[in-house]
Amino acid sequence: MGCQVRYAFDSRRSIMAHRNDAMSQKQNSDRTSPNTILGFSRVKLPYEEVLMFQTVSRLLPEVSLILVTAVATHLVMSFAQTLMHYKLGHHPRGGKFFRNHINFHHTYYSKDHLVSRTYLGEEGNNTPFFFIPVFLVGGCAYFLLPLNLFVVMVIASAASFYAHVFFDKEYHVEGSRLQRFAWFRRQQELHFVHHRHANSNFGVIHFFWDKILGTYQRPDAGA
Ligand SMILES: [Zn+2]
Ligand SMILES: [Zn+2]
Repeated sequence: MGCQVRYAFDSRRSIMAHRNDAMSQKQNSDRTSPNTILGFSRVKLPYEEVLMFQTVSRLLPEVSLILVTAVATHLVMSFAQTLMHYKLGHHPRGGKFFRNHINFHHTYYSKDHLVSRTYLGEEGNNTPFFFIPVFLVGGCAYFLLPLNLFVVMVIASAASFYAHVFFDKEYHVEGSRLQRFAWFRRQQELHFVHHRHANSNFGVIHFFWDKILGTYQRPDAGA
């Protein structure tokens, strides 16, 4: 009798031990499996690095969206400027815009007089005309875009607008500091082609718009 009890007790212990073994094996495999991808052990990163990685992966889409918005805004501004210059600045339908542009900018700077000591652009300034489409588009964008992207758009359009005014000024001013750069001299030549042949090169910063519009003329092509 005593022996039977003892046997039963022993076998229960061995079953329990077996079960514990199996459980601890399962726990071990649960603990190791997330750290193993395709047989490679995951490297454990320090907490700071994990935090940095998480921050970067969270910010990356946002930063890309900001960059895309800024670049797109600049391209729209630049195309609008080229189109207004082409269709209004050099056509009587442009009214005051046309008269200002021809009577001032193209009269100050024509043929062989393409640079001056100081920029002659205060009179007949067409800048206010650009604000009409800019405010119209900007007003629509305010309702369509999230606020942070709208702010990016406003800053990018102001910067782009300033860049257009800045470049036209630098092209026509004697001894611009940008003269040292070959890319600038190339841009300037392309703009001067516009002053010699007013039906070409309407872009001020990007002349690829002229290639698209079919109004592009190289500086060396029959100046
Ligand atoms: Zn012009
Ligand atoms: Zn000019």
